[in-house]
Amino acid sequence: LFVSFEGVDGVGKTTQVERLRQYLESRDRTVLVTREPGGTPLGAALRRLLLHNIAEDAADIAPRAEALIFAADRAQHVAETIRPALDRGEIVITDRYLDSSLAYQAGGRELTAAEIRDLSLWATNGLLPVRTYLLDMDPAASHTRLQHDADRMESAGDDFQSRTRQAFLDLAAAEPNRFRVIDAAQTIDRVWERIREDIDALLAV
Ligand code: C5P
Ligand code: MG
Repeated sequence: LFVSFEGVDGVGKTTQVERLRQYLESRDRTVLVTREPGGTPLGAALRRLLLHNIAEDAADIAPRAEALIFAADRAQHVAETIRPALDRGEIVITDRYLDSSLAYQAGGRELTAAEIRDLSLWATNGLLPVRTYLLDMDPAASHTRLQHDADRMESAGDDFQSRTRQAFLDLAAAEPNRFRVIDAAQTIDRVWERIREDIDALLAV
């Protein structure tokens, strides 16, 4: 079973991923938790390239270059981590996957969703999650939850963040069977309750 969590920064993805892991492990499932970007050693290096300024006088990363670096991270992630775990019969939970690229690299910047989708599906050899939880919330509110200094993307501005949120909602509307949209402004327990109900139903079939 392959599950992803999506949403803008600060909506609580990492917290819910951890709850889901504990819940499934308490039911004797073997779970692999991972994330993008940075789910592999190569990915960790790419993450540093993407999120932190490379050098003081370096030019901005061009949109196509950025999309390719995220795609390279994802290709390695699938090949090295996700695919082998699924083949071993484990449940894989990832904190972000290709919908993040559709929302961020296409939703906010100059590339089209179709281009990013083709690139992502090529990178992953077509691997899609069975279930994607979209934790939805106003980015102006979610960003006040962030504990650390803003990285390059997080400091991109409210306009970019709002477009990204809307891009996620559009993706969810286009694939209602894969997505569950959850109001992340609710308490952590209420959000978790929605996820637990859904995962119980998924595992029961
Ligand atoms: O969720 P996490 O904090 O690990 O994501 C790192 C940053 O990368 C976030 O600020 C997110 O906005 C950005 N990101 C992105 N495109 C992706 C994945 C993440 O811009 N495909
Ligand atoms: Mg972040």
